[in-house]
Amino acid sequence: MNLQYVQGEALFTHTHKVPKQYPYLTENINTDVIIIGGGVTGSIVAYYFTRQNIDCVILEKNRIAFGSTSITTTLLQYELDSNARKLEPYTPLENSLKAYKLGLQALLEIDTFIKEHGNLCDYEKKDTLLYTSKKEEIAELEDEYNFRKANGLDVEFLTASSNPFSFDLKAGVYGIDGGAQLDPYKYTHQLLEVSSKAGLQAFENTEAVKINYLDDGVEVETTYGYQVKGKIIIVATGYNTQLFTKRNFGVKTTTFNIATKPIASFEGWPGRVLIRDNSSTYHYLRTTADHRILAGGEDISFVPDIFDEDAALEKYKLLEARIKTMFPLIKGVTAEYQYCGAFASTQDNLGFLGKDPKNDKLWYCLGYGANGILFAILGGMMLSKLYLGSFDENLKLFKVDRFDG
Ligand SMILES: Cc1cc2nc3c(=O)[nH]c(=O)nc-3n(C[C@H](O)[C@H](O)[C@H](O)COP(=O)(O)OP(=O)(O)OC[C@H]3O[C@@H](n4cnc5c(N)ncnc54)[C@H](O)[C@@H]3O)c2cc1C
Repeated sequence: MNLQYVQGEALFTHTHKVPKQYPYLTENINTDVIIIGGGVTGSIVAYYFTRQNIDCVILEKNRIAFGSTSITTTLLQYELDSNARKLEPYTPLENSLKAYKLGLQALLEIDTFIKEHGNLCDYEKKDTLLYTSKKEEIAELEDEYNFRKANGLDVEFLTASSNPFSFDLKAGVYGIDGGAQLDPYKYTHQLLEVSSKAGLQAFENTEAVKINYLDDGVEVETTYGYQVKGKIIIVATGYNTQLFTKRNFGVKTTTFNIATKPIASFEGWPGRVLIRDNSSTYHYLRTTADHRILAGGEDISFVPDIFDEDAALEKYKLLEARIKTMFPLIKGVTAEYQYCGAFASTQDNLGFLGKDPKNDKLWYCLGYGANGILFAILGGMMLSKLYLGSFDENLKLFKVDRFDG
């Protein structure tokens, strides 16, 4: 991962010991599926493939979960970045609805994983709130509420008079059991631990430097000259895809996060629900298992190779001020961790899952958009089935070439 994609001291990688260190590759090996990228996405894919008894290897060029995974805010919710009606110019309403329902399915998958393997990653189910403090956006949120309600999603509509929160809310769509949160660093390690016990071979500090497509499979050349031979590769390298394709996936912004020092009580924030606002420089907030507030947003355009530290410090201050304004009853709000990084989104807010249109041996699992982790779960489920010969119609939503001319 280029350093420009992650800047600052991320909460999740700085508050825990490294649970396990994986070796680097020191010999040539054979497998069926080569997953490239040891972030949360690659680890989710590895979990689903290993669960289906498919022989696979995961290669991470740096350390496990130190890429975008280290800075993800991890608000896991079925709703997309934009409201369904706003996405209509790019995708029909029925597709957004399908994505919502698939998101709920992915949430259930995480819940099942935790029930089967234990909660080692601070997993918690959560309600969600999408709100606005602007009068002119009330109708938009009401419309989103009506759309979800009419389609069987468990939502309530909040108004200024029924607002249980301490911040200014003119309208809100409250999703009951619509989300979850977890620690992405611990979760990634837990997935790898479970999968390693089931046969996965994981390597860190092992970069894929060249891909050779052969008649009978694919060969990945790695750092120090060792090779992995397999039948297909799955690209789970996040925002770093240049080695595999010239295709430009998504539009990048830089997004900023702060994590406060632990806080004694969360007055004005019932249920410590996941919060997202509907403004154009949008914000998102949640709390953590160790009682911090995580706030993110203030996005700006991403400029490769340039990092303006002063501008970032301004953004962190704005985020801290925003928390204080929203929660005047919460005492001791002080940012302890401040970090930022690239974030990529797409017109229809969905990621990319599936085969390269021109190369059957090149597959992608790219969780672009604010629901990246849930898309990775769907990718793991549907791609492992595809590998075994069964095509899930829902894969069409995430087709790699869906925006091509
Ligand atoms: C600030 C922020 C907030 C977010 N909030 C949310 C959220 O609330 N909810 C949500 O669901 N999603 C969210 N996302 C999106 C989500 O974080 C991403 O979908 C997810 O973290 C990306 O994980 P990844 O494993 O795909 O990428 P990464 O964690 O970047 O992992 C890719 C890995 O590939 C490795 N790699 C790259 N090239 C090679 C190579 N040639 N050989 C070997 N390894 C290689 C890299 O070193 C890296 O470790 C957020 C993202 C950001 C940046």
